[in-house]
Amino acid sequence: MVLEFFFSQFRHASVVAAITAAGLVPGLAIANSLPTPPTSGTATEKAAVSPALAAAVPEADLRSWCDPVTRVLPTIKLKPCLRAGLVPSGAKSVKGLPIMAREVVAHGISGAQSPARVLVIGGIHGDELTSSAVVFRWLEWIDQAEAKPYQWQIVPVLNPDGLLAKPATRVNANGVDLNRNFPTPNWEKEAPKYWTVKTANDPRRFPGKAPISEPESRWLHNEIKRFKPDVIISIHAPFGVLDFDGPVDPPHKLGALILMPVGVYPGSLGNYGGVHKGVPVVTIELPHALDMPSEAELKSIWRDMLVWIESNVAQKKTADLERVVSGVR
Ligand SMILES: [Zn+2]
Repeated sequence: MVLEFFFSQFRHASVVAAITAAGLVPGLAIANSLPTPPTSGTATEKAAVSPALAAAVPEADLRSWCDPVTRVLPTIKLKPCLRAGLVPSGAKSVKGLPIMAREVVAHGISGAQSPARVLVIGGIHGDELTSSAVVFRWLEWIDQAEAKPYQWQIVPVLNPDGLLAKPATRVNANGVDLNRNFPTPNWEKEAPKYWTVKTANDPRRFPGKAPISEPESRWLHNEIKRFKPDVIISIHAPFGVLDFDGPVDPPHKLGALILMPVGVYPGSLGNYGGVHKGVPVVTIELPHALDMPSEAELKSIWRDMLVWIESNVAQKKTADLERVVSGVR
């Protein structure tokens, strides 16, 4: 019954077989000791999801995604995940799990302005659990006044197969490091060479056989084209620093995290977005992969990030637009 509930959302038998074989759904081992999740939910549980959201995504679909994810993530409970406003992006992981996202429309800016567009990516490396959990916390704050002027596209778990593997893995289900799979110039020559020479064929850093060979990186590549972000925020762990690639002034400090460039790699998102496409990429390296920052530190990082976006991305975008409108180059 529980198995049927979990898998009712994954309608292809081959995907179900693959997930079962991989032991991918956490909690299955203890599933028989749990109460059977209701397919329609109790009145209290139903109230957790807004009517508009419930209409957009069936609650059973949300539950089948949120339940295994929140069993793994530190401090993130099921209800906040159900309330997070996530919808299927349309893309699925190698094992057929939906890549969920939430797009938030900007509010409170004048008609003449164009809002800064912010793309937030958590969990590109599946074993950096805090990198997804932090994004869930930010989703709780996304309707607050200081976040409203911006257009957001938020993806808490880009690599669900890696997150839900036992144990969680940095790479996706094909063994590819998604953060080395983006089409940086000369990828075919540089990425395999870097992997062999610099990492000694480290399986955690395999860049794949071709750029954007993976459904997860391919979706993000297409999403960057569609969403046209003015800034990309990519969350990692556990180095406890900030990294930055791109054309504007970097943030020197977000919370306790200090800017300390960690290098440019063939196929990385920072290299692709920041160096090649000219979109600023802020890489937040949290200090621990399993333990969340304190509540005060989480808020501090969030607030500092919004201040930096306002002064270095939003104001610059407005100034650039004004220059174009007035004909000054
Ligand atoms: Zn990482």
